[in-house]
Amino acid sequence: MQELFKALKECVMSDPINCNEENSKEERGSILYLVVPCYNEEEVIITSAQKMKDKMQGLINKGIISSKSKIMFVNDGSKDNTWKIIHGLCKADSIFSGICFSRNYGHQSAILAGMLTARQYADMVVTIDADLQQDIEALDEFIKCYRDGCEIVYGVRNDRDTDGFFKKITATLFYKLMHILGCNVLSNHADYRLLSKKALDALAEHKEVNLFLRGLIPTMGFQSDVVYFDVKEREAGKSKYTLKKMFALAVDGITSMSTRPIQIITLIGFFVSLFSAIMIIYCIWDWFSGHNVPGYTTTVVVSLLMGGLTIFSLGIVGEYVGKIYLEAKARPRYIVESFIWKDGDEKNE
Ligand code: UDP
Ligand code: MG
Repeated sequence: MQELFKALKECVMSDPINCNEENSKEERGSILYLVVPCYNEEEVIITSAQKMKDKMQGLINKGIISSKSKIMFVNDGSKDNTWKIIHGLCKADSIFSGICFSRNYGHQSAILAGMLTARQYADMVVTIDADLQQDIEALDEFIKCYRDGCEIVYGVRNDRDTDGFFKKITATLFYKLMHILGCNVLSNHADYRLLSKKALDALAEHKEVNLFLRGLIPTMGFQSDVVYFDVKEREAGKSKYTLKKMFALAVDGITSMSTRPIQIITLIGFFVSLFSAIMIIYCIWDWFSGHNVPGYTTTVVVSLLMGGLTIFSLGIVGEYVGKIYLEAKARPRYIVESFIWKDGDEKNE
């Protein structure tokens, strides 16, 4: 018994988190897949592909990652030549592979599709934007954390200097609101992150249609770490995140992660009811004491306020009902039209 305690103590002292053999650093696979969502990125994709290839090749040469590692582009229904370029890259070099959606499903779906496809071949997956605004040099740090036993590594931007005034304000407000609503999101963490195979398997168990990966992934737990990186200017092309897309992501983020807005409505409803009860008692008392106040303005203000509040509350509840409707239909989160994995061979699904 004493020997068992001694062995246990040694194991815990040497590696407090991973005393499990399965998790030991040496045994972790080193096939890395870089997943790159692309929507109308013809201006920037060739330059980015070259930089990504150079980086991956460097890591392969140093023996940090396996030579089976790949760069996987996900064409999210681009209307320009993005898919043609990806096709050409895959034909030219087997380090590239590509997935083509049947239409535009959005950034979150593109990342998810890439991760879930790469899961079959990779030991770890890093998602990064096609414009390489996120510093690719941070990959070394990501892999180091993975080697140290992390299943999830979050990329967090050092600052928001490259953002415009509007984006800076809206992003800050969004993260503040998410925290107030009790959502566990890391401020300034975009979708630049590493997931190990184990984390990807866990992610695959989540079947929700309303995707907000920044909120969903932290709910899975696992040993994780943060890597800080600098954000650069976009090399070419414009941002593909229109105001409409940004707003939709924010609504998805809130409604898929928190039911607190509905609780707030209930709370407001309670206080308004309390106020109404006091007003009713006051009016009855007024009537009995014989005062006859005209009260036109009060009536209009109160009814407008109540009308506005009721419609706004119904809107919020409706937003959740709509989401439930979409989840209940359980439509596919994306449809893959074709997939190129090796030597430019295109498989049509
Ligand atoms: N993106 C996508 N589908 C979309 C919109 C964007 O796959 O519907 C991709 C885009 O090609 C890029 C990444 O998501 O790789 C981030 O978009 P962008 O750089 O335009 O956003 P920003 O950096 O301005 O927030
Ligand atoms: Mg960008």
